[in-house]
Amino acid sequence: MSKMHNVLVVGAGPAGYAIVGELTKRGVDVLWIAPDVDEPWPNAYGAWLSEVPPEFHSALAWTWASPTVGFQNELQVLDATYGRFDNELLKGLLVNTEQQAKVLIEDRRAIESDRSRAKIVVDASGFQRVFSGGRSPDPAFQTAYGILAEVDGEPIDGHDMALMDYRPIPGVEEDPATFLYAMRLGGHENPNLWFLEETVLSARPALSISRLEELLYLRLEGRGVRVMQVHEVERCVIPMGEEIPRSEAVAFGAAAGFVHPATGYSLSRTLRSAGTLADAIAGGVDDLSKVVWPKDMRRARDFQNFGLDVLLGFDAAQTRRFFESFFQLPTKKWQAYLSDQSGVSDIAATMWSQFLKVDPSLKWKLVQAGIGFIR
Ligand SMILES: Cc1cc2nc3c(=O)[nH]c(=O)nc-3n(C[C@H](O)[C@H](O)[C@H](O)COP(=O)(O)OP(=O)(O)OC[C@H]3O[C@@H](n4cnc5c(N)ncnc54)[C@H](O)[C@@H]3O)c2cc1C
Repeated sequence: MSKMHNVLVVGAGPAGYAIVGELTKRGVDVLWIAPDVDEPWPNAYGAWLSEVPPEFHSALAWTWASPTVGFQNELQVLDATYGRFDNELLKGLLVNTEQQAKVLIEDRRAIESDRSRAKIVVDASGFQRVFSGGRSPDPAFQTAYGILAEVDGEPIDGHDMALMDYRPIPGVEEDPATFLYAMRLGGHENPNLWFLEETVLSARPALSISRLEELLYLRLEGRGVRVMQVHEVERCVIPMGEEIPRSEAVAFGAAAGFVHPATGYSLSRTLRSAGTLADAIAGGVDDLSKVVWPKDMRRARDFQNFGLDVLLGFDAAQTRRFFESFFQLPTKKWQAYLSDQSGVSDIAATMWSQFLKVDPSLKWKLVQAGIGFIR
């Protein structure tokens, strides 16, 4: 009979790495089912600096102190720093070679009978949720098509970073509204190297990746930007507003529904909560689901899901007007809404400020949505 392990972790994305690293630091015996443990992560990760725990700041290989957003003509500079991770640096901080040597790694996909090989099963398999299930039957999706490319021209009017450039593409009426997410990655040495991604924040049904690709090139063409050489392509599909799983396995990361309904992000929360979960496992806490999803965070999530439903009800013009007033709120307010560290009162305060700020037709939509939420 094979050995019974303390913890089995499935998945070698950021969540798998984070929890394996924290468990091994605490001397917990771990079996790691990780078919792609030595493969590069396929996604490029960005985050607000204020959301990333300080011990991981050194893995932010790029930071922008003046990110922008745009809705009509001029881009607006935000008073917050945004960063992008170097994935290999982050992996090294999460699980160093010494820690990795202490873990039994099985380089294959998980199968049903793996459940019985450890006292605790941590499902960090991302959107697959192999051991935790509970996927929403009809989720909304964030979709995006991105390129890492050398370009000739300035994609965002001489700025270095755009979080959301929602300015319309001349001659294109697209619904749902799409925006350009843009980062100059080459710095002074190679100012023409960019990551450029056309994105739909959330839509049901999803906007196709092929349409997003067309829109990206139309947008760049409209700005007189020529793509000279594409080094990498990112095709992004993120289910939004997924349910929190109820299962015997402890879901963690995207599998646990960490993806924030307003941003599609989960990495910062994963980094912040891996230590807490590892403490609870090492300390023998019984109900680990309450550690992953404390009551106040569940309540906050209900509000965030309400916000997602509101957005899904907007047409393209309303989406632009909504975000235009959102980013005119004080920085603390809009950041509280995008953060997954905020409690219900902070989220509700931002919602109220936003309600006061939007134009009457949006106000009416918000009232209708609010009535639905209360019911
Ligand atoms: C293209 C893209 C870009 C994103 N950008 C950002 C961003 O900028 N910032 C941010 O915070 N979030 C971002 N996200 C959202 C989210 O943070 C990511 O999806 C993130 O990768 C989730 O991490 P995870 O470790 O939970 O899951 P994943 O990274 O999906 O990792 C899951 C792991 O489980 C493994 N696995 C799956 N099934 C099995 C199985 N049967 N057996 C064994 N292993 C299995 C996979 O091989 C993988 O190793 C992005 C998502 C996508 C898709």
